[in-house]
Amino acid sequence: MINQNSITLLVGIILLLVIVIVFLMFYIKKLKMQRDELQQSEQILKTIINGLPDLIGYKDSEGKWIVANEAFFKIFNTDETMLGKTNLELMFFLPEFKKELEGCEETDKKTWENKNTSMFEESFHQLDGTFRTFDVVKVPIFYDYGNRKGVAVLGREITERKKTEELKKQTEDKERQLLELKHYNEIRTEFFANLSHELRTPLNLIMSSVQLIQKLNENEINCLNKFNKYINIIRQNSYRLVKIVNNLIDITKIEAGYLEPNFYNVNIVEIVENITLSINSYAEQKEISLIFDTNVEEKVMSCDPYIIERIMLNLLSNAVKFTQNGGTIEVFLEDNNDFIEIIVKDNGIGIPIEKQSLIFERFVQVDKSLSRNREGSGIGLSLVKAFVEIHGGKIEIDNNYTEGSKFIVCIPVRVLAEVENENNNYICQNKDNRVQIINVEFSDIYS
Ligand code: ADP
Repeated sequence: MINQNSITLLVGIILLLVIVIVFLMFYIKKLKMQRDELQQSEQILKTIINGLPDLIGYKDSEGKWIVANEAFFKIFNTDETMLGKTNLELMFFLPEFKKELEGCEETDKKTWENKNTSMFEESFHQLDGTFRTFDVVKVPIFYDYGNRKGVAVLGREITERKKTEELKKQTEDKERQLLELKHYNEIRTEFFANLSHELRTPLNLIMSSVQLIQKLNENEINCLNKFNKYINIIRQNSYRLVKIVNNLIDITKIEAGYLEPNFYNVNIVEIVENITLSINSYAEQKEISLIFDTNVEEKVMSCDPYIIERIMLNLLSNAVKFTQNGGTIEVFLEDNNDFIEIIVKDNGIGIPIEKQSLIFERFVQVDKSLSRNREGSGIGLSLVKAFVEIHGGKIEIDNNYTEGSKFIVCIPVRVLAEVENENNNYICQNKDNRVQIINVEFSDIYS
């Protein structure tokens, strides 16, 4: 028997069920609406992201591509099938982009290491053979508890900007080359003007001396003094011509790359000391004190002794040329085990600091005027620099030294193997030869 209470309970339950159903229906409808809205905004976002020319992507903590916009698909010449794969997996599907994907992988790694927004420049080759370059920003995202969540990738194309920059650089390079060429041509023109002066002066002196000798009558011929004077002028000016020609030949040989040095194991201290002391007569003429010092008595190493002598004679003749009467020239050879330093120091007129970097260039002279009171062609130091470089060394001016000029030649110490050294027979210059060489190198200095 169903009593009144049971009926009331049943009606109550039914009512409650109806209310729950209605509530659920509303809730489901609301959820559906929210889902539709979400889908709609996702669609809008997708349209916007895909419409953008910039690269937009997102990879999860394992490096799987979760989001990639059309611009990304275009770059890799692919479609949505790239999603869900890591860079390494994509290399298998897109082997033609292996290099680019390796680059992406590398920059991903760096971003995780940086733990911060990182910027890179990435280039992607295209199937038509061109390259597209992007400024890529990678933003690592972490969970609150610090674990990796994913990395957002944003890229802006800079291909055109790069091209313009490249073009600008090329134009600037061309302009610089043109300026350098102009500058070089100016120096060369100056050099040839100077060279004609250099060649003409000794030739004139030789010719007039010969004429004077011819004019000497019987009596005067007996007057040996005059005869010797003219002969000396002829000799010295012939040396000057030989020096100019020698230097020109050497610099041309070096430029053409066929100056062949002859390396021997020799005691470089002896070579430098002997050649320094052998110019003492030139120093004495100007009452210049010539000092040689060293921290070792013997240093056997591989070098071309003849070239070392040329280096020293060039530096010493400049030192004598540019030092006033009564001055001092010091040569110091320092053994530093791996390298030796030869320092040539004078207390002469010095070289202005702004000219110091230029004087090793060919044809450069500090005083270029033809009326200058010291002769020279401006090849000497460029030749010295080339000679030092043949030995793997370098030459510089100490710009802290202000009482004159201080040249520092630094040569690495190498020793030839016994067999190599035996093959090279170093023939020591005989005395007459050396005197001849010194006279040639010092021919700018009038005795
Ligand atoms: P040059 O044959 O004219 O001497 P170098 O190449 O040997 O040519 O030297 C270039 C220039 O460097 C010289 O003209 C001179 O102005 C400067 N110079 C070289 N050595 C010295 C020095 N010891 N003191 C002062 N000036 C120097």
